[in-house]
Amino acid sequence: MAKKQFKAESKRLLEMMINSIYTQREIFLRELISNASDAIDKIYYKSLADDQLVFDKDNYYIKITADKDKRTLTISDTGIGMTKEELENNLGVIAKSGSLAFKQENELKDGHNIIGQFGVGFYSAFMVADVVTVISRALGSDEAYKWESEGADGYTIEPSEKATVGTDIIMKIKPNTEDDRYDEFLEEYRLKSIVKKYSDFIRYPIKMDVKGK
Ligand code: ADP
Ligand code: MG
Repeated sequence: MAKKQFKAESKRLLEMMINSIYTQREIFLRELISNASDAIDKIYYKSLADDQLVFDKDNYYIKITADKDKRTLTISDTGIGMTKEELENNLGVIAKSGSLAFKQENELKDGHNIIGQFGVGFYSAFMVADVVTVISRALGSDEAYKWESEGADGYTIEPSEKATVGTDIIMKIKPNTEDDRYDEFLEEYRLKSIVKKYSDFIRYPIKMDVKGK
């Protein structure tokens, strides 16, 4: 008998993931920082094989910016960035991991540091944000694109602008409700303690800037 393939209802899958695979909301930060670190690692691994590409460690970092007045939390990295197609494939397809593909294409064996593999971590941002905007410029390109989504309903991609290569993930933090408080994800002490708890092993500097009151 011919074996049939399972089909997935992506909207429901995404809703389920956002609401139930993670027990603690705070891990969204771990996921986004690990993606940022992977993006920088990819430039590093490419530089090993490409004489034209010099990896000067001082130019690579991750930055967390909270703006309490705008209620935004932004995770920026100076990593490899994403083209329009990569935004489409990696953020538009649930459970698709560009990082796993990168490891396979570059035959990275043990000892590499790239963390990503399941292709779902990014969506954990929707546990704390009602809008997620990704502005990215890929290595070797002078074009930037903006990917934006409010969750299960889908996403848009349009041309954008970005002065340097890398990615900004901008989260519009949810308003507090009677039962749930989200303000804490804009507080410096709270962000610092989450970074310490889950991202202490990250090899690139993690800078932080909190503004507003
Ligand atoms: P995973 O990290 O397990 O691959 P994610 O859902 O966290 O899954 O991310 C999906 C993919 O999106 C990644 O594999 C990567 O290709 C791409 N991606 C996510 N964040 C970034 C980023 N900051 N810079 C470049 N690519 C990214
Ligand atoms: Mg990830």
